[in-house]
Amino acid sequence: MTSSRIASRVQRIKPSPSTSAADRANSLRREGRSIVNLVVGEPDFDTPVHICEAAAAAITRGATRYTLMAGTVELRQAIADKLLRENKLSYALNEIIATSGAKSAIYNALAVTLEPGDEVIIPAPYWVSYPDMVIACEGTPITIACPESSGFKLLPEQLAAAITPRTRWLIINSPSNPTGAAYTLEEYQALAKVLLQHPQVMIMSDDIYEHIRYDGERTPHLLEAEPALRERTLVINGVSKTYAMTGWRIGYAAGPTDLIRAIDTLLSQSSGNCCSVSQAAAAAAMNGDQSFVASSVEIYRQRRDHMLAGINAIPGLSCVAPDGAFYLYINCSGWIGKTTPQGQQLANDGDVVMYLLESEGVAVVAGVAYGLSPYFRLSIATSLENLDEGCKRIARAAAALQ
Ligand code: PMP
Repeated sequence: MTSSRIASRVQRIKPSPSTSAADRANSLRREGRSIVNLVVGEPDFDTPVHICEAAAAAITRGATRYTLMAGTVELRQAIADKLLRENKLSYALNEIIATSGAKSAIYNALAVTLEPGDEVIIPAPYWVSYPDMVIACEGTPITIACPESSGFKLLPEQLAAAITPRTRWLIINSPSNPTGAAYTLEEYQALAKVLLQHPQVMIMSDDIYEHIRYDGERTPHLLEAEPALRERTLVINGVSKTYAMTGWRIGYAAGPTDLIRAIDTLLSQSSGNCCSVSQAAAAAAMNGDQSFVASSVEIYRQRRDHMLAGINAIPGLSCVAPDGAFYLYINCSGWIGKTTPQGQQLANDGDVVMYLLESEGVAVVAGVAYGLSPYFRLSIATSLENLDEGCKRIARAAAALQ
């Protein structure tokens, strides 16, 4: 049995459900089926040219060697400048570490802080990786259901009730993957009031979708609401979503020096620094012309409005308008209990997603993966034509239900 060679902490985690859904869609496509893939959570745009040119220039000037473990001074200065300019947060270079994607920053922050059984509060629906990362670090994910009726957001009283002496972290993701819900400054203030009473709780603020907003609002930061939390807050961000740079793998953490130093030590003995060429590209992204951000958000906005109208016109489905990110989290409770033309009764959102894939070739991800059912997540990071075709097929699937 090969599985017995694998440590139990790894046996307990599962592959990312969005990767599994994309794999299933791709294998059906190879079989010749026409598939509309609405799974992928990455911008469908190319990285802006000036960023690519900065990478090419870095290669030419020989920036192809190991860098400082925490990232080049140039990159960390660009991050510090960005945090000050956009978030009104002041960080010194030794309070910042660049990592291979925000994913690595989150994982390593958990790895350097969790003792077995330590609790991490994760509001649901959540990004699929949070609970599994906690489990991989031998912690205990404590998920809190944040229903549509509270805007998919954590309420202060829910937070207060979930905190125990074992609580090490609260993870906040605003705007959220998968719902797009974003906290207001006032909502952050209310959560901060609770957090101030529990000094053992650190806060991980995953800001990766901060720029993708539909209401014209700037995304406020928990630390603007309550600067006193700075000593126990880790800011997580990266260039993947904002600058269409998912493949370059640059993210970062900014926070107290003991945490940053511990992450630096762990990374120095595991993966080493992140790619030198990508670091130059990421610095150019943050320092350079920002017009790509506004123009891509405008395109996401058109898609969001178009799809919201389309989905809300389909019997049995409903979707609240997301504040940000590039997903729709669609309530499919009206389909549960219905019967497909093949005679199958849809018992849950996993059945709904399989039905959409098998009957109409539409690939989406079941809400169960994000910890709140019955929903499915649809990505709008794809062309309007693709989205239109997807909507037509979902409407056909709805019409065939009894
Ligand atoms: N946080 C959230 C909420 C995400 O959706 C993602 C990407 N799917 C990440 C972090 C990781 O981004 P990356 O590692 O590409 O920087």
